Amino acid sequence: MRKLLFSLAACALLAGCATNPVTGKREFRIFSDKEEVALGAKTRDSVIKQYGRRADPVLEAYVAGVGRKLAAVCDRRELDYSFYVLDTDMVNAFAAPGGYIFVTRGILKAMSDESELAGVLGHEIGHVTARHSMKALEKQYGYQALINIASIAAGKDLSGLQQYSDFLAGALLAGYGRDNEFQADSLGARYAMAAGYDPRGTADFFRKLEKMEGGKKANDLEKLFMSHPPTKERIKRVEAQSASAAGGERNPAGYAEAVKGL
Ligand code: ZN
Repeated sequence: MRKLLFSLAACALLAGCATNPVTGKREFRIFSDKEEVALGAKTRDSVIKQYGRRADPVLEAYVAGVGRKLAAVCDRRELDYSFYVLDTDMVNAFAAPGGYIFVTRGILKAMSDESELAGVLGHEIGHVTARHSMKALEKQYGYQALINIASIAAGKDLSGLQQYSDFLAGALLAGYGRDNEFQADSLGARYAMAAGYDPRGTADFFRKLEKMEGGKKANDLEKLFMSHPPTKERIKRVEAQSASAAGGERNPAGYAEAVKGL
């Protein structure tokens, strides 16, 4: 209760209440978009330092082309989304606050067409639109820290952001917990459909992950699934959501051409 009262007071003082772009519910909003983007840019630098960015501008432009179609129909269109290919065999994708989206060489190699890529990018954009990394930060450092982080991000000297961006770069790998992952799945499938992609690509890709989970690549995938819900359940929900879809773009030929250098 004390925490609630404090939060309500902070909310009034900081004019930090806003409508969540995804749920439409009123919630505390400590970060302005500009502050969130500053934290995200720092986190992007940490992620790229850790994994390395693949030197393939043509491939990255292709991924960005698919990503921008989803960004154009998502719930936070005012952000400027950017897309990066990380040069690692690890099968993963993640998003930093403010719209920085990453896919690994490993996950691109595991996909067969553009609708699968759209499902994964949509999921990551969903984490951004629903502001899940803010929740991860609050869980780790507490509510007061969010206010501190926001004030650093608003200032000129961003060096104080380093510890938080390093934390986020690590935490992104682990996912955001069961409920947030289901929410990102559902947002991702919705964005993919709105952008004209076949939402069944998402379920198809999850099935591939499921197969890998049982195979020799299990170690790589452990991190990806640490806090993710069971893949079977994710498939079931995404299939239910896309059951009425009348098809959509898959573009296996274009996808194969784009990733042939991997
Ligand atoms: Zn996720």
